[in-house]
Amino acid sequence: MKLRKVTAASAAVLTLALAATACGGDDSSSGSSGSSSKIKIGIKFDQPGLGLKQPDGFSGFDVDVATYVAKQLGYQPDQIEWVETKSADRENALQRGDVKFIAATYSITDKRKAKVDFAGPYLLAHQDLLVKKDSTITKATDLNKKKLCSVTGSTSAQNVKNDFAQDAQLREYGGYSECIAGLQSGAVDAVTTDDSILAGFAAQDKYKGQFKLVGAKLSNENYGIGVKKGDTELLNKINDALKKMESDGAWQQAVEKNFGPAGYQNEPAPQIGNIVK
Ligand code: GLU
Repeated sequence: MKLRKVTAASAAVLTLALAATACGGDDSSSGSSGSSSKIKIGIKFDQPGLGLKQPDGFSGFDVDVATYVAKQLGYQPDQIEWVETKSADRENALQRGDVKFIAATYSITDKRKAKVDFAGPYLLAHQDLLVKKDSTITKATDLNKKKLCSVTGSTSAQNVKNDFAQDAQLREYGGYSECIAGLQSGAVDAVTTDDSILAGFAAQDKYKGQFKLVGAKLSNENYGIGVKKGDTELLNKINDALKKMESDGAWQQAVEKNFGPAGYQNEPAPQIGNIVK
């Protein structure tokens, strides 16, 4: 009798242990619906309106797109683990397998396509300049000899060097929030990156009325969802999810919710697979 009780108890413990192993595994490779595992997704943590970490959770257009895509892959919001992927870390994070996919204002470029694959595009933005309200900078050529901030590993910094402001004094920081703080303090004269990002910062309460966007449209930035190179199955599923998001109204809702407060006039929904050069 006593022995039987012990055996029953051990069986119960064993069952619990097995159940815990089944649920607790961090196998984010399964994309089937109803998965009980977690999925790691790379986003930005410091970009208001796109990817922002706040005390009560994460918000932004990239967060909403990623959440929608994850759901189509079989993951509920509480199964998502958000991982910060700064501009310079994105290719490495995918190559190492730190995250399953990245939705982090991540422009599709040929250089990056040599290392990772992209689903999308799901948004078309344009590189622009953010300056102080009373600044005399109104176009890229006004940047010569001026201190210009951008972020390491971004297309924005690369375009400055290759292209439109070779005589600017480029300061490369790790994230855009640092550039914006520099603009406020006067450490830099302008910040350059996508208009979508700059509009989000300019509308924040703490900066309201202090900055202006120049409206320069210096480039086309086609935002893609980055995946590990060669993971065609995942890529196709994400493209299907993005098409669904655009056709069922969720894309438009996410745009209004996240860009509306900043007054950002976004381009219409891109056609999936169609990159605007
Ligand atoms: N979209 C540009 C890029 O992918 C600039 C924004 C960013 O650094 O995330 O580099």
